[in-house]
This record gives sequence, structure tokens and C-alpha cells, in this order.
Amino acid sequence: MNPEQTTLKHQPTGEAPSIEASIVLANPRGFCAGVDRAIIIVEQALDKFGAPIYVRHEVVHNKFVVDELRAKGAVFVEELDEIPSGSIVIFSAHGVSKAVRAEAESRGLTAYDATCPLVTKVHIEVEKMRKAGMEIVMIGHKGHPEVEGTMGQVEQTSTDDHQASDTTNSTGMYLVETPEDVAVLTVKDPAKLAYVTQTTLSMDDAALVINALKEKFPHINAPKSDDICYATQNRQDAVKIMAQDCDLVIIVGSPNSSNSNRLREVAKNQGIDAYMVDNASYLKPEWLANKKKVGVSAGASAPEVLVKEVIAQLQNFGAGNVQELQGVVESVVFQLPKNLTSAAKTNTVQS
Ligand code: SF4
Repeated sequence: MNPEQTTLKHQPTGEAPSIEASIVLANPRGFCAGVDRAIIIVEQALDKFGAPIYVRHEVVHNKFVVDELRAKGAVFVEELDEIPSGSIVIFSAHGVSKAVRAEAESRGLTAYDATCPLVTKVHIEVEKMRKAGMEIVMIGHKGHPEVEGTMGQVEQTSTDDHQASDTTNSTGMYLVETPEDVAVLTVKDPAKLAYVTQTTLSMDDAALVINALKEKFPHINAPKSDDICYATQNRQDAVKIMAQDCDLVIIVGSPNSSNSNRLREVAKNQGIDAYMVDNASYLKPEWLANKKKVGVSAGASAPEVLVKEVIAQLQNFGAGNVQELQGVVESVVFQLPKNLTSAAKTNTVQS
């Protein structure tokens, strides 16, 4: 069993603060359809082909999920040259550049694609915009694998050459993170310009950047539908509503999870204390001192088992009953890749 799965017991000391807070649970929270699908793809590949199954990058940004898959035989790598030729590779939910796909093919790897279909939608948008002769501004976080994959749809593998101040950009894509980046952005033809966004941005922060773009480039084309995905929007809305009635918010999520970080920021922006924890062992009893209501939610890559452990630990500290809020009911389900569902089973699962 993973050490984080064990129920953690806090030993109260004489100095422990008096805690009377009740707990509120946001809805929806935790796994989205893209994360569900990505995990199932790795599990089915292990089931059909046996270990090892190579996964380029953490399939989703959650330590618990990655550790569990690793224990079942998944091998996580950052670059394809770490994988023996002829092996099976799975691309993570964040998506990959065209160069990575081409490299997998040239190395004789069999690839199964766990890219979230909502990320693929942005990739297709980028291709269409470029074919229409437009330059594209991507709003996203430099270095995030989703940004690298989306920028790489125009044959680049790194974001390093796409800075806002790069006025000699030959790929036609520019990366901006803030309104300040927009202020220094120079494009070739403002009349032929479009923007796309990373799927997991803060809606409020993205709106500021989009407004700055529209002010500077009044003819800029927007994506046909919002690039920030339904799961990101629903979880941010739910935390915003929950936080109005709380004086502390705990978000369950790993440090490299973009959407989990954004949830913490959403709560923090309501003027209350907000922390993000990978699991219950990171909670501190002093956070609850003099608090009346503690809100709990989880990023799209954080499993419910970790939420349950966080609640148990909060109650172990002295917090009271749990009230679960009503929220948007999500029914999105994504199909698995056809080449995986049709692949013949060649082996039994390895441990
Ligand atoms: S957070 Fe959104 S884009 Fe990312 S995997 Fe989930 S549904 Fe897809």
C-alpha cells in the first residue's frame, strides 16, 4: 500500500489549538473525464500488453495516481530516448507536439494517446488558424507540458523560442502569461491574429489577458468555443461559491497540477486562507485555529480517496460534521482510443 493511503493520526499535544470548525465539501471536485480516460488507458494497456508500459510525462499531475500506476508496471519518462525501441508508449493527458509524435514513429514505438480530447480540440483549432494564415497568441504557463504540446502543433518542441518579446517569430505562435506580456507583444499583422488558451487557466486571470489582447489588437479572433475546459470552470465556480461561506479552504492536489493551483488561488482571491496539500499528511492543525468553516475541494487529477483522508484528518484535529454542497452534475465521458480498444490482448497484467 502506498504510504499516503494509510490513515494518518495526529497526536494532540497540550499546545494544540482549540478547533471547532465544521467542514464543507465543494461540488463538483476531483477527477474529470479527461483524467479518468487517461488513467484507464494506462490500466488497459497494462492489462492487454503487460508491463512495462512507458508513459511520456506523468499521465496526470497527481503523485498518488502516478505511484499507483508505477506499482502496476507503468514506467514514467520525460523523453522518448529513454524508451527502448519497439516498446509501447502512452502520451499523457496534457498532449504532445507534432515533433514528439514523429519521434515516436521514427523510434518504432507503438503509441497510445491519452491526450484529453479537450486539449486535442485546441490543437485542431491551432492548425485551422495557421492554415487560415493567422498568427496565434497562446495564453498559458511557460514550461507546462500542455503549452509545449499546443505550441508544438506548429512544429516546435519548446516554448523557449516563443516569448512575447520575440518579434522575429517564424512559427507564427507567441506565448503570453500576463497583461504585461501583451503590452510588449509585437506581431506581424494585427489583422490576422487569433488566440487560444491553456485548458486549465484561472478564468479570472485569463479574462484579464484576453481583455488586454482585445484592447491592443481589436481584430483578434477568439476560439469558436471556450478553451478553458468544463471541468476547470465547474471546479473554480464551485470553490468560489463555497469560499464565500468559509474562512479556510483546503485544496487536494499535487504541486505540479495547474488546475489545483488555480483552485487554491480562486479561494485565496476571496480574501481567506487557502492551502493546497498533496495528501492528508501535509495538513497542519494550526491552520484550523479560530476557524468556523473549512471548505475542501480537489483538483481534476486528485482522487476522492485523498479527499476522504483529508476529511478524516481534519476531524482527527477536532473539526466537526461534513456538509456536501450541491453543484453542477457532470456527465461527460470520453471514448478510449480506437487503436487501444481494438488491440488484441497479448498478456496478463503484471505486478
Ligand atoms: S482538466 Fe479539462 S482539459 Fe484537463 S484532462 Fe480534465 S477535462 Fe481534459
